[in-house]
Amino acid sequence: MDLTYTEEEEAFRARLRRWLGGVLPALPPKPSPGDWPGRRAYDTGWQRRLYDAGYGDVHWDASPTTRLIFLEETERAGAPYVGANFVGLLHAGPTIAAEGTAAQRERWLTPVLRGDEVWCQGFSEPGAGSDLASLRTRAVRDGDAYVITGSKIWTSHAEVADWCELLVRTDPAAAKHRGISWLAMPMDAPGITVRPLRTLAGSTEFAEMFLDEVRVPVGNRVGEENDGWRVTMVTLSFERGTAFVGEVVACRRVLGELAAHARKSGRWDDAVLRRELALLTAEFSALWRLTQWNVSEAQAGGGVPGVGGSVFKLRYSHARQRLYDVAAGVLGGAGALDAGHEWTLDRLSSLSYTIAAGTSQIQRNIVAERILGLPKGGR
Ligand SMILES: Cc1cc2nc3c(=O)[nH]c(=O)nc-3n(C[C@H](O)[C@H](O)[C@H](O)COP(=O)(O)OP(=O)(O)OC[C@H]3O[C@@H](n4cnc5c(N)ncnc54)[C@H](O)[C@@H]3O)c2cc1C
Repeated sequence: MDLTYTEEEEAFRARLRRWLGGVLPALPPKPSPGDWPGRRAYDTGWQRRLYDAGYGDVHWDASPTTRLIFLEETERAGAPYVGANFVGLLHAGPTIAAEGTAAQRERWLTPVLRGDEVWCQGFSEPGAGSDLASLRTRAVRDGDAYVITGSKIWTSHAEVADWCELLVRTDPAAAKHRGISWLAMPMDAPGITVRPLRTLAGSTEFAEMFLDEVRVPVGNRVGEENDGWRVTMVTLSFERGTAFVGEVVACRRVLGELAAHARKSGRWDDAVLRRELALLTAEFSALWRLTQWNVSEAQAGGGVPGVGGSVFKLRYSHARQRLYDVAAGVLGGAGALDAGHEWTLDRLSSLSYTIAAGTSQIQRNIVAERILGLPKGGR
């Protein structure tokens, strides 16, 4: 690992810190967790401020190290994260930047950076999650459009999105990884029905999406027809590589808050609790070093994160669940059941971390096969 900060990078950090210090106190209050239109407006409003101040493209155009500094500083200062537009900023945007034509980059990138347009991800289907290449949503060419029929599930933020990065089957006769294409689908196209799904935490952040002869222009295809699987791998490497970096900083902050809360509430005498907190502190320090290592590798490899993202995702998702189990212990009794408490909500949502963006079993398969060189398991 070679991760030393240059003078220029340290100057970037100082400039950003000053800007955050000036702008954060003037932010409007956060909307309630269930108010998705309000959350969209809040998150895209923050993105617009970043854009106007020259930080809008930091997730794509900056070097991995600069991006790391940005995430570290914004999280430390308590600034909003990508929120409702995480797909636009962390998946679709970087994918279009890497794989799109000049005209596609021109059309789609600036509206994401300015906070004008929000994206969702239409990859998973009822019969295609871990085995994503089994997807069956069909796209049939009709002149200069694809006519799309099928259904998607777990589509995060579909209700407030303007665009969907959509995987469709364009050649049903080809081997399953070969007949897929990656499309940008406008969410206001006729034939789309979005049915929200409620999570354990009471939020309707994702939805089922039904597509009935939806017409999408052929010009909205990113990459070649039937080459969508390769494009998808680019998207997923961003998802697993850097999407969770800011959260590690946040978890380290929560650890400090847990210790402070335990001291104040008289729980600090509990040796088991102190041991748990110490173990988690060590775990998150290691995760932070792993993050830096991954960033350093990405920097050396031209900016696209590698399989180290799977090691990180696997350890991080389980550590996050342990962290919020300990938080429930610190809150104790009725406190741990208080559905209005941030730690309780984060505990419930932490359950999804070992499923979303590739389950733990799938990450273990990737680590076994691509890093340790073990033979492919029987599937
Ligand atoms: C909070 C959240 C947000 C999401 N957002 C989106 C989104 O915006 N867009 C989108 O397209 N999808 C989204 N997803 C879906 C997510 O990508 C899938 O849930 C995930 O890929 C797992 O697929 P599945 O749910 O179909 O489970 P399955 O693939 O059916 O897996 C079921 C179980 O079998 C195990 N398993 C499967 N295959 C193997 C194997 N080869 N080896 C060992 N074990 C295996 C899995 O680990 C799991 O435990 C989201 C999910 C969550 C939880």
